[in-house]
Amino acid sequence: MKALVFHKINDVRVETVDDPRIEESRDAVIRVTSTAICGSDLHILDGFVPQMRNMVLGHEFMGVVEEIGPGVTNLKIGDRVVVPFPIACGTCYFCNHQWPTQCENSNSNYGPDGGFMTEKAAALFGYTDLYGGYNGGQAEYVRVPFADFGPRKVPDGLTDEQVLFLTDIFPTGWAAADWAKIKGGETVAIFGAGPVGIMAAKSAWLMGAGRVINVDVQQYRLDMAKKSANSETILWQDQDQVVELIRSMTEGRGADVCIDAVGMEANRSFLDKAKAVFNAEKGTAKVLETCLRAVRRAGVVSVVGVYGSPFDNFPIYRWFDKGITLMGTQAPVQIYIDHLMQLVQDGKVKLDDIITHTLPLEQAAYGYEIFKKKQDNCVKVVLKP
Ligand code: NAD
Ligand code: ZN
Ligand code: ZN
Repeated sequence: MKALVFHKINDVRVETVDDPRIEESRDAVIRVTSTAICGSDLHILDGFVPQMRNMVLGHEFMGVVEEIGPGVTNLKIGDRVVVPFPIACGTCYFCNHQWPTQCENSNSNYGPDGGFMTEKAAALFGYTDLYGGYNGGQAEYVRVPFADFGPRKVPDGLTDEQVLFLTDIFPTGWAAADWAKIKGGETVAIFGAGPVGIMAAKSAWLMGAGRVINVDVQQYRLDMAKKSANSETILWQDQDQVVELIRSMTEGRGADVCIDAVGMEANRSFLDKAKAVFNAEKGTAKVLETCLRAVRRAGVVSVVGVYGSPFDNFPIYRWFDKGITLMGTQAPVQIYIDHLMQLVQDGKVKLDDIITHTLPLEQAAYGYEIFKKKQDNCVKVVLKP
């Protein structure tokens, strides 16, 4: 089959690889009909999340059940499904406690320590050997382990585009808002107006936020946030400017909730880069630090942007002095997806309005390039195998 294969930093190619097959009784093989490129894929492309051997990438995918193992009784061949990006067993301590992304049974590199390069959380599709080493879904076919727990059937009448983002970015944005315990009327400042930041904005409104602000360094992405999620927008110039603006919009207090939907690959100056090399840090924690400043005292900071290393001089004193609730991790998609599918089906939310590019899988490398370099006003790329 054809698949998008990561070779090395800045080198991904569509090529022929072995077809996946059923390996365990709870496996399914899915014929992929639509798959997307995510900001998380860029961390692999850019070498921030390391991968040594070739691997098929892609954790946002959906398609048709082609084959099932004997242990899968809730799906049948021909079912149309969306697949959550975290791989989880459904039966372990954490799966039983609503934490599929901390599953004990899907990642051979799992452990309680959450180390820098080892003892990681649950496995993720197409997300390096650190996260289980499973091939991903930017491919014609993909093997889905624990297929009786993750995949959800798509109700009749919904297109791929309407439901594809239930695999990751909508539940991720939703998780950020849910962790912030939005009850109604809050001012929510979201750093990032990429796909995740925009989905967080849609989620905040659905939960009753009073005011939603997206911050980004790219004006065209802020324009998309405004159009698709009705956000107020701030163009990032520097940390002080953004903090001052958010305070001026909130009677000097700061936002009730700050969401970090950027992570370690925020824009960096030469000095930021030098500091990272000197301190052996991956990227920068600048956006998270800005969230700690821009949030009001006793507010919440929700982090869905990915961080992958220690950071020296992290301002933990602000967290303590201001009484901030800080939460972040990979989104537990499985616990939200059914409710979110219902919202889509009921027409309460539209997800496909952020798609700027639909390309054949053969052009996936080009899709990575324009998404990474923010060319051609690219916000979200959908690939068709
Ligand atoms: P993206 O790369 O398209 O978006 C990131 C955005 O941040 C870009 O629009 C960029 O211009 C902007 N940005 C850069 N520096 C900034 C700054 N200083 N201030 C404000 N904005 C800045 O990626 P995405 O797909 O939207 O994903 C965003 C983050 O969420 C990534 O780190 C990704 O890995 C992560 N993610 C996490 C989960 C999860 O489960 N926790 C799931 C999906 C994605
Ligand atoms: Zn993703
Ligand atoms: Zn589990």
